[in-house]
Amino acid sequence: MRAVRLVQIGRPLQNVEIPIPEIGPSDVLIRVAAAGICHSDAHYRGGISTIDNLPVTLGHEVAGRVEKVGTNVANVASGDRVCVHYLVYCGACKFCMRGSEQFCRSGQMIGKHRDGGYAEFIKVPGANAFPLPDEIPFEVGAIMMCSSATALHALNKARFKAGESIAIFGLGGLGFSALQLARAFNCGDLYVVEINPAKLASAANMGAVAIDARSADPVDQIKEATAGRGADVALELIGSAKTMRQAVLCLGALGRAALVGLTAESMSIHPYTELINKEVEIVGVSDHLASQLPTLIEFARSGKLKFPSETLRFVDLDATQINAALDALQDSIDHVRTVIVPGSDR
Ligand SMILES: [Zn+2]
Ligand SMILES: [Zn+2]
Repeated sequence: MRAVRLVQIGRPLQNVEIPIPEIGPSDVLIRVAAAGICHSDAHYRGGISTIDNLPVTLGHEVAGRVEKVGTNVANVASGDRVCVHYLVYCGACKFCMRGSEQFCRSGQMIGKHRDGGYAEFIKVPGANAFPLPDEIPFEVGAIMMCSSATALHALNKARFKAGESIAIFGLGGLGFSALQLARAFNCGDLYVVEINPAKLASAANMGAVAIDARSADPVDQIKEATAGRGADVALELIGSAKTMRQAVLCLGALGRAALVGLTAESMSIHPYTELINKEVEIVGVSDHLASQLPTLIEFARSGKLKFPSETLRFVDLDATQINAALDALQDSIDHVRTVIVPGSDR
């Protein structure tokens, strides 16, 4: 089969011919219909996140049709449309047993620690294949398994509930999903903090109150808009100490700030006035859980989570096209996603 693989760090991905993977009794073989090209893939290629088992087929955002199932697999059958949970986990360790498999000691990320979806076929454990309803296009099934799933996990970690107000810092890929998911949860007032005029406009179009952080302190603006109460929940999706601090300060009593963006900077907090006095919580968010995916899939099936066609681009399963898409990601600021659709050069 054809696969596009990372052979050497810092070098372009390569087209290679490799055997179709042999499946074990608990595995499924999926014919890939769509594979999302993610920022993390650019980081793997560039050596920003380390990979030590080269060569490897990248691609952790995968949807397709089941080609073959192992004898122990009961949750999906040959011919089923499926999307893939990207973390392969043991199911038996302390973390897996409590449903927090992202901390599994023997966890393996698809498209990093084992071969991913930049290929005609992918082998995954049956437990990682989730039925994809007909209403959800393969390309949406693929890309929602990364940033949308993490946005949902962030809302869950913040214990976000109907009627609560929420401030979303950053309208990138995560924010685009978080905004829609917050509405799917019947949120109260929804604020999006941005500095990019186009993103502020699209936040307003999507029914949020756009907070332009260039015009005044976003914390003051949110406090003013909430008559001094502050937001119930804030999601920090940018990865800067400044916006993380703002996400904490914009909260009212009993507010929760979920921090998702990555940064090496330190953040300062005044414990009494900014945390203790209001019983504010700061929550770290890492990845997402298999148990959350059925909810996510249902939101997409019912049209509450959408990726309009103008936000998507398509490339073929071809190293030249994929490398170009990865190059473009490195300096892209919009949230257009590029999806590999093998055999079609749309
Ligand atoms: Zn991803
Ligand atoms: Zn485990």
